[in-house]
Amino acid sequence: MKTYDYLIVGSGLFGSVFAQKAKEKGKRCLVIDKRSHTGGNIHCKNKNSILVHEYGAHIFHTDNEEVWQYVNRFTKFNHYINSPLAKYKGQLYNLPFNMNTFNKLWGVNTPQEAKLKLEEQRRPYVHLVNPVNLEEQALKLCGEEIYRIFIKEYTEKQWGRPATELPAFIIKRLPFRFVYDNNYFDDPYQGIPIEGYNSLISNLLEGIEIKTDVNYFQNRPYFDNLADKILFTGCIDEFFNYEYGCLEYRSLRFEHELLDIEDFQGNAVVNYDESAIPYTRIIEHKHFQFGKQPFTVITKEYPQSYHADNEPYYPVNDQKNTQLFNLYKERASSCPDKLFGGRLAQYAYFDMDDTIAAALKLAQREFYK
Ligand SMILES: Cc1cc2nc3c(=O)[nH]c(=O)nc-3n(C[C@H](O)[C@H](O)[C@H](O)COP(=O)(O)OP(=O)(O)OC[C@H]3O[C@@H](n4cnc5c(N)ncnc54)[C@H](O)[C@@H]3O)c2cc1C
Repeated sequence: MKTYDYLIVGSGLFGSVFAQKAKEKGKRCLVIDKRSHTGGNIHCKNKNSILVHEYGAHIFHTDNEEVWQYVNRFTKFNHYINSPLAKYKGQLYNLPFNMNTFNKLWGVNTPQEAKLKLEEQRRPYVHLVNPVNLEEQALKLCGEEIYRIFIKEYTEKQWGRPATELPAFIIKRLPFRFVYDNNYFDDPYQGIPIEGYNSLISNLLEGIEIKTDVNYFQNRPYFDNLADKILFTGCIDEFFNYEYGCLEYRSLRFEHELLDIEDFQGNAVVNYDESAIPYTRIIEHKHFQFGKQPFTVITKEYPQSYHADNEPYYPVNDQKNTQLFNLYKERASSCPDKLFGGRLAQYAYFDMDDTIAAALKLAQREFYK
């Protein structure tokens, strides 16, 4: 008999939810992570009592009742509502596009006036029936002014390529709201864990054996012999030794600063839309927790190309990479004692609620089949 029923590679949200369900079913689990902490990308660092989202701002939101009930067993959420701002050439605008944005942009006051103005902006681009790139797609959806201020330079910074060379599918639709409402998400449930994301992860992993600073690939034969089954939540191309080639990603660099002032920007999230500013956002973490400290911590997010020394954040889900991923997926399906899950193994951008839902679904298949 092997030492464990399951070896779980990766203590991010996917691995932690799966481990919790496995333990509930009486399975013997070991969770390993190559980082020095658990939680993967939702991990926060406590800087002088401010919880800093080390790997980018994380706001929990969902319309999935089951996920909301599940996650509330392990943490309680505050009433934070995400209402980001966008800054362009010294002006601040509310997001998502709503009556506050239209009022600032065009001086319109009523939904009727805003809709007429938007139609007028779109009119020159109605001929773009099948947009061939992101620029055409955006112009068709919102016209010149919104495209120029909010989309072009920000998206080019984010992806490191001109909008005319980016695929149209990146912007499927643009949410326009004709009410004075700055709540970014439509979901009925939203918030930040009152005790922080680390408490959510440690509650999920309570009573489960964990080893951090341990990379599965550094001793693969040993780990393969340790458990009957392995759940792998790392990069799927790495798991198969890049047999078919490397999957592409976009990365980020985070610059954290502790400032000796009470409040830097009066809001948790401010996007910087213009290309002259190298970062895409500034996050002021205390606002996620309604912090009252006399100091503050901010983080600037700089988009980067992905290479061996930084983190893979955003998958490039174009045709080439999708085909490549499908080859790995096919390969994975022929490994009966291996399970694959999470954003890296599934090569997908998943919000946290989707990650939890997918881990619960996998656990359901494994333990209640
Ligand atoms: C910048 C950014 C902002 C985001 N903001 C939001 C948001 O506001 N709201 C929202 O709902 N979602 C957000 N998300 C999505 C959210 O981060 C994911 O849904 C979630 O973290 C995915 O969890 P995971 O377990 O799949 O992956 P991860 O958190 O990446 O966990 C995988 C773990 O596996 C470990 N690992 C990998 N390879 C090995 C190995 N060989 N050996 C040992 N360990 C290994 C890694 O160290 C890592 O800890 C954001 C994502 C990004 C990139």
